[in-house]
Amino acid sequence: MQTTSETLFKQAQSVIPGGVNSPVRACRNVQSTPAFIAKGYGSHLFDVDNRAYIDFVLSWGPMILGHADPEVTEAIQRTTALGTSFGAPSPLEIELATEVRDAFPSIEMVRMVNSGTEATMSALRLARACTKRDKVLKFIGCYHGHADPFLAQAGSGLATLSIPGTPGVPAHVVEDTLLAPYNDLATVEELFQKEGDAIAAIIVEPIACNMGLVLPSEGFLKGLYDIAHAHGSLLIFDEVITGFRASYSGAQGRFGIDPDLTTFGKIIGGGLPVGAFGGKAQYMKRVAPEGDVYQAGTLSGNPLAMAAGLATVRKLRGMDYDLLEKRTANFALKLRDILAEKVPVQIPTIASMFSVFFTEDPVTDFASAQKANQARFTLFYKQMRAQGIYLAPSSFETGMLSFAHSDADLERTLAAARTVCF
Ligand SMILES: *Cc1c(COP(=O)(O)O)cnc(C)c1O
Repeated sequence: MQTTSETLFKQAQSVIPGGVNSPVRACRNVQSTPAFIAKGYGSHLFDVDNRAYIDFVLSWGPMILGHADPEVTEAIQRTTALGTSFGAPSPLEIELATEVRDAFPSIEMVRMVNSGTEATMSALRLARACTKRDKVLKFIGCYHGHADPFLAQAGSGLATLSIPGTPGVPAHVVEDTLLAPYNDLATVEELFQKEGDAIAAIIVEPIACNMGLVLPSEGFLKGLYDIAHAHGSLLIFDEVITGFRASYSGAQGRFGIDPDLTTFGKIIGGGLPVGAFGGKAQYMKRVAPEGDVYQAGTLSGNPLAMAAGLATVRKLRGMDYDLLEKRTANFALKLRDILAEKVPVQIPTIASMFSVFFTEDPVTDFASAQKANQARFTLFYKQMRAQGIYLAPSSFETGMLSFAHSDADLERTLAAARTVCF
């Protein structure tokens, strides 16, 4: 008997490439097909076959308050009734920009866009304009959305599908993209010795979340800051995941580093499509129309997305991040103990994030992440999903907890893990 999800997936494949609007959702590399989701509430998703799942994907990061949070939903409904897009300035844009500025000490001005991809693409354009240089240094396994210059050795879906680059990106575009292994300051230093005066910016996920979860080693981020500034380059923190997740003031607040530019997405849209880039006024004032660097968007700053983001960020201000972190750490530790009895496993964790690598050795970069046993991950994924535990369908993604996850949810997840056979 076919499930409704399976029937829908067949239909979807005839009108949408691969049946999905973003590749990893197809669950191919874990030899599964996607559950089609009918609704979400709190920590739970419900699929079209009425199966309930405890959700550790959270729409890949935005739903830190859980699904259909009543305050966020109310804000969206209230705003919808007043019209959803004007293509003209509206008051909520100032409010969300102010919240972001107040939460992040390095931010003086913010421009709203519609996705993380747009945010990183625009931040790079700005960094190039401000430095009059073309090259950008990124880290192997980091993902910065799907704009051309970042599609070299990127993480997330490309890592999942083993795609090093992609057709359609001209070779001359990625020639300006320099690559270094994550946590490898020596290689960064070497690249800057060679061509530091041509490098506009270093872009980095201050906590890498798109090759699985990989923490920055002690001194790595400060080292990047120092090297970039010694050579007149800008440091861009891609906080699309970590913004309002690693702490209320993101990874930069947590580690005490002030990047020149920062990109946002995910949480600041509260589940609606949003991105933003911001930073020091001296750079942001180069953005049109104040400056000469063109950047625009028909739906940018639309009231609906601003309302959802604003309700989310305001509610987060009063939430206990430390407690969520402690609960996540405790959960990750127990999960490790359960799985380590069966097979070698690493479960890195920070803030409300964790990931599962089936490998003996600590994971510090993309090369070590790739050594993890994918066949075991597939077995783990399938058996957890069959028990109603919704994990990201790839070990190159990061698991997330929300403020809506209960102790009972976590206990049930651990109980499911106890039954997994490898
Ligand atoms: C998700 C993500 C992006 C891209 O954001 P989209 O909204 O999917 O375009 C960029 N950078 C990081 C670190 C991300 O996790």
